[in-house]
Amino acid sequence: MRYNNTPKGFLAKLSKTHKILLSAAIVIIVITLLFQQSDEQATETVSDTQQSEPAVNPANSDVTDQQVEGTESGASAQQKTDNNEVTEPKGPVTSEYVVVEGDTLGGIFEKMAISQKTLYELLDADLDVLALDDLELGESLYFTVDNDELERLELRPSLAKRVIFERRDHAGFEYKEIAVDGKWQQQRFIGKVLYSFGGSAQQAGLTMNESYFVANLLKEKIDFVRQIRPNDRFEILVDRQYIDGQATGASRVRAVRVYNHKHVIAAYLYKGSYYDEDGNSLKKAFQRLPLLKRYRISSSFNPYRRHPITGLRRPHNGTDFAVPPGTTVLSTGDGVVKRVVRHKYAGLYIEVDHGNSYSTRYLHLSKALVKRGQRVKRGEKIALSGNTGRTTGPHLHFELRRNGAAINAMTAHIPIAKTIEKKELKQFKQQIAEYQKALDKAEVAVVMPLAQLDDSLIEKQLLPIIRRI
Ligand SMILES: [Zn+2]
Repeated sequence: MRYNNTPKGFLAKLSKTHKILLSAAIVIIVITLLFQQSDEQATETVSDTQQSEPAVNPANSDVTDQQVEGTESGASAQQKTDNNEVTEPKGPVTSEYVVVEGDTLGGIFEKMAISQKTLYELLDADLDVLALDDLELGESLYFTVDNDELERLELRPSLAKRVIFERRDHAGFEYKEIAVDGKWQQQRFIGKVLYSFGGSAQQAGLTMNESYFVANLLKEKIDFVRQIRPNDRFEILVDRQYIDGQATGASRVRAVRVYNHKHVIAAYLYKGSYYDEDGNSLKKAFQRLPLLKRYRISSSFNPYRRHPITGLRRPHNGTDFAVPPGTTVLSTGDGVVKRVVRHKYAGLYIEVDHGNSYSTRYLHLSKALVKRGQRVKRGEKIALSGNTGRTTGPHLHFELRRNGAAINAMTAHIPIAKTIEKKELKQFKQQIAEYQKALDKAEVAVVMPLAQLDDSLIEKQLLPIIRRI
């Protein structure tokens, strides 16, 4: 009772004028508090945006635009709270460059007003990656410049991959790769062989690459020119990679069945290798070593290697073999020579495309024995080793890539010629049963417009677009 009465009594004692004055004072205080709070909130939000800017790492001009807006509202919010001088912070600016025909790396950097010194710093960081050698027509490069200095360069070689070079103080650039796995979708293609296997397979929806791969996979089992008959059928199971609903071009053939007259010729992918129904390896396989015999490994595959002095991440994407100059270098699998080039740091190097998302690279060569576009076989002599480019001594740098990313050729599960062991036979048969179920699922061929899309990608890859500086 006493506590309830007290405020009432206090207010009752005040005169009418006092009451009005008191109410007005309360209203003013409340308004002032509200204003201050909203100002503080505005300032806080802005400083949050500013702090997160470097982490956001703008990759396109849209993001940069948003940042500029954020900075402006930050400045006006500060002006509200105090009237001190406000200097607008000069943030990093990202610009996009789209590669056009006839572009050279040096030319692009000149157009972007970036010094040759910076280009060489980038090439140095790119030494074991050679991402800058893979530029294609229509590909975008994102240059982030801060205070007239290139801070960051981003490449987007495919939907599945982003390559980033970032400046670390004055030590140079650090290389970073972001791979997006997306979704792998299994697709079934069936059809009849009409004139040629390749043509019919492509009509059924396979890409040129995939149909070539299948033909090559079965070439020791069936002669597609002489043995195939007009009514022979085929069923093929392929996994394809999609990102945001778009095909990236990466694919893996999982199972193939060709009904040739009264025979069934089959190939099934199991633990990285292809086998027939009985578990016998189909010889479409790789050999581990690009050499006739074993040599000492002078530097192993190491994606986390750091430079001993600068501490920058310098992935070693391959295996170095200490071989004397002039040693015979072999292609580790069947394929097509995609590239024979001279590079400032990698020296003379060869890249072979093996299909099914595999490729290999051979660096620091003294002589190339093959030409671009030439088909090569597993174990075929393709070059002589050397000491070209930037090396600390003669060696062969050998690299194996799957879906564009380097993998350890010495340990990776790659198709190696062999037969399934007895103890694994049960597991193998289970896998085949699964494939067969998937192959039997439908009756009609699935024709995908993908074939065109992927083939144009392949053609692009074969064009010599970027001339070296
Ligand atoms: Zn190396």
